[in-house]
Amino acid sequence: MDLQLRDKVAVITGGSVGIGLAVAEGLASEGVHLALCARNEERLNREAQRIRDEFKVEVMTFPCDISRQSDVAEFIGAIQSHFGGADILINNAGTGSEEKIATADDEKWQYYWDLHVMAAVRMSRGLMSAMEVRGGGIILNNSSICAAQPLGYEPIYNTTKAALSMFSKCLANECIPLNIRVNTINPGLIITPDWINTAEILGKKTGISADQYLENLAKEYTPIGRFGTPKELADFFVFMCSPRASYCVGSTYYVDGGWLNVVK
Ligand code: NDP
Repeated sequence: MDLQLRDKVAVITGGSVGIGLAVAEGLASEGVHLALCARNEERLNREAQRIRDEFKVEVMTFPCDISRQSDVAEFIGAIQSHFGGADILINNAGTGSEEKIATADDEKWQYYWDLHVMAAVRMSRGLMSAMEVRGGGIILNNSSICAAQPLGYEPIYNTTKAALSMFSKCLANECIPLNIRVNTINPGLIITPDWINTAEILGKKTGISADQYLENLAKEYTPIGRFGTPKELADFFVFMCSPRASYCVGSTYYVDGGWLNVVK
């Protein structure tokens, strides 16, 4: 299937590792040029070079903290001067939290609000008029199954991801007349280096290996009984960026191995 993506420009927040990196590779393999951001400059530049070498596409990097308004503004400015806008925006940067509502302070709430919600608001607002000028575009918000089915240990993550999903729906309605398709993707358990680190720490505490810890977790949560790979998820992202997905708009898609426990 020709996904008709060659020479499009995609912006991916958090494109240096895990899901964002897999989406970057998936799009690059279709001939899409990239603008990637993350905080760790060395890793970002290393992965960007690998993608350039392997896929022969243009990759612009911009080290920044996407939770900060000024960093987002500078990133958008750099995208405009380098590519003159973008056709695809993947709001992906994010991370889990761990807290009790009783003891988490405002600062922590604010950080996750800025990272999961305001970064997507600011990036979308900053790029949508250029997308319209280019004839339309795609915005995908990487939320989480936790937006609908909360995990007990991370109320701030659950709440801010739920807000991101609602933002995504509102943006979709506003963007349809501009020929910009906005959707939300809710992954379940996707095996990233971050999960492996966590499993090493938590497995040690309970006297089991990281692999055993991950296997137990996947069996407990997912009917499919395993983690998904970043590539399995990225393939879905790439399809959703394609004109082949032209009737998919304003929706939320779960890629979760059957973990969502309701019919929705
Ligand atoms: P990773 O931790 O593997 O990657 C996160 C990426 O975001 C990195 O590139 C990281 O780079 C970047 N990032 C994090 N914070 C910031 C920041 N403040 N500013 C700029 N860049 C930032 O995470 P995943 O790939 O696992 O997750 C990606 C998204 O998918 C997240 O939004 C997550 O909530 C969501 N998700 C993940 C699931 C999973 O099982 N893995 C399940 C459901 C949703 P750097 O650290 O250098 O800034």
